[in-house]
Amino acid sequence: MDPTQLDNLRQLLNNRGWRLHFPAPLEAEFQADYTARYQTHMIISGLLGVLALLACGVIDPIWMPDVMTELWTIRIATTLPILVLLLFSRTPFLTRHMQAVTATGACIFVAGLVALSHTATEPFNHYYAGAITLVMLVVFVLSRLQFVWGLCSAALMMIILNTHHLLIAGSSLMLMTIHNFIFIASATFALVGTFLVERSLRQNYLQSRLLSFENHDLEESNLRLQYLTAIDGLTQIANRRSLDMTLTTEWQRALRKREPLGVVMIDVDHFKLFNDTYGHQAGDECLRGVAGALKDFARRPGDIAARYGGEEFVLVLTNATSAQARIVAERVRDRILELAIPHQSSSHGNVTASFGVASIVPTNQHNGPEVLLLAADQALYRAKHSGRNRVSVDGLPDEDQAVA
Ligand code: GH3
Ligand code: MG
Ligand code: MG
Repeated sequence: MDPTQLDNLRQLLNNRGWRLHFPAPLEAEFQADYTARYQTHMIISGLLGVLALLACGVIDPIWMPDVMTELWTIRIATTLPILVLLLFSRTPFLTRHMQAVTATGACIFVAGLVALSHTATEPFNHYYAGAITLVMLVVFVLSRLQFVWGLCSAALMMIILNTHHLLIAGSSLMLMTIHNFIFIASATFALVGTFLVERSLRQNYLQSRLLSFENHDLEESNLRLQYLTAIDGLTQIANRRSLDMTLTTEWQRALRKREPLGVVMIDVDHFKLFNDTYGHQAGDECLRGVAGALKDFARRPGDIAARYGGEEFVLVLTNATSAQARIVAERVRDRILELAIPHQSSSHGNVTASFGVASIVPTNQHNGPEVLLLAADQALYRAKHSGRNRVSVDGLPDEDQAVA
């Protein structure tokens, strides 16, 4: 995570001003998140509005039979475009413009109510006029219209309202004043609510973003820490700690499955002389080369190639008998020879290594994997003392494979 991004988020969170806008990329993400959260609210509030407007129509034949046709025409003309908007509200385009769609739907609804109040007979016309305020409140609260869009739609509703008063109804100044007063008072109230809700939603969004970034950073640090505690710094293969853990796990598994667990212990020959001849840095490079060759042989899940310490390595081979582990050890020996790292103080001329192999089918009589390491170490000792650059297997006579 980019630290400047984190700083920006913290700065935005500390900014307790009036602004309801983030920098462009963050704003786009916020809007997408907002839409995902509240699109269903918008659809439900739209459907409820449509249902309410149609349901109110049941009174038309009873109380206003004379204008029933006109009233139902208005109801259908109002609800139809809103239904179309709702029907396509989940398409990508309308989803992207959810706020504009909601504001448009609300304005169509209010225009419908104005037309109904104009057409309905006394006293129902007053109810429809009053419903305008109600609709605005419900839309602002239920569909989570954001402040800017609330402001736009409230302004448009006022224009619709006053256009009707001035151009169509020719209302008295008193009626206009009363309607405008009620509308402006409720719109102010609704907009303040919208503003406060949106601001706290934005703060929450910033906080959750910050938290998820911080968690991400923490996870990365944990992984890094795990890596550092498991990997040998010089050779980049498993360290002694990982080896001990793996050996314990694999020992238990082998015990359960009654399978053999194989171990190859590897020690670079005459490495002190190598260091003395070529220097410590060349010695380090040589250890990296040997480790690189070794790790290719830890193939099965549970196998591990680890640096045991100094110039000694261990290869754990799951479900491997002594004979199978010996074959692998021979291959590793060949691979180290193929590296052809010059070692003039060695009789072979190149760097070589000696190998001690052991394999045990663990039982409860054994104390633990230490017994396996001890057996491999004893075999390695034999390999060293019978000429180096060779593989010795615990409990088996040595084969004549020395090249040195
Ligand atoms: P042998 O064939 O009997 O194993 O002889 P050897 O010289 O390899 O064994 P010895 O134990 O005498 O020497 C091991 C040397 O490995 C001594 C030490 O300086 C060197 N060594 C241990 N760790 C490192 C390391 O991280 N880097 C380097 N360059 N040398 C190391
Ligand atoms: Mg050694
Ligand atoms: Mg050595």
